[in-house]
Amino acid sequence: MSIQKINKLLIGTNNKGKLSEIKSLLPKNVEIHSTSEFNLKSPIENGKTFRENSLIKSKYFSKKTGLICLADDSGLEIDFLNKNPGIYSARWGGKHGDFKKAIKRVYSELNKKDKNWKHKKIRARFVCALSISFLDKIIACVQGKIEGYISIEPKGKNGFGYDPIFVPKGKRKTFGEMKPVKKYKIDHRYFAFKKLRKFL
Ligand code: IMP
Repeated sequence: MSIQKINKLLIGTNNKGKLSEIKSLLPKNVEIHSTSEFNLKSPIENGKTFRENSLIKSKYFSKKTGLICLADDSGLEIDFLNKNPGIYSARWGGKHGDFKKAIKRVYSELNKKDKNWKHKKIRARFVCALSISFLDKIIACVQGKIEGYISIEPKGKNGFGYDPIFVPKGKRKTFGEMKPVKKYKIDHRYFAFKKLRKFL
């Protein structure tokens, strides 16, 4: 069966950091729309996995607009914290999505668990589930990951969310210290996007 290429797409996110990253990953021939054009609030994310939450968003925004929708659900898994914050990554920032607050929480949970955590390698990974839906129909649902470590202190002012505390495996700089174009070429969203290429 041949796959029809999508030429008009709504990006189902109210997160500006994600929106600019997703826009830069999409081919230039795709007509992009954002949720701000429709003044839409985000749905309640009550799924148990990144995939489930991604599908909740892509179906919801597609049904609200009648457009094919691409949505992302992503987060940071820290092995030493039993894979938390995971799907709760945004929620650790509180109601107003305060990333400084979320980062503080990471360090306070690590301190609670082990006062000596700074002498250990704290393994972590970013995970991204991307889905494309049209109304209730799932067109695609894929996942991408990037492995790395938690930095002993936040570094860098680029990016968003947990970028200042995540050092990808094999690198010395945090995502927050990297230029966005560099981060966009190696991160979890990039690897998930690669799996969507045949649709775009
Ligand atoms: P949600 O997918 O909208 O529920 O939120 C995911 C949350 O995970 C974001 O608000 C960030 O805190 C975090 N996150 C996801 N992707 C990234 C990234 O590329 N860099 C830093 N933080 C991220």
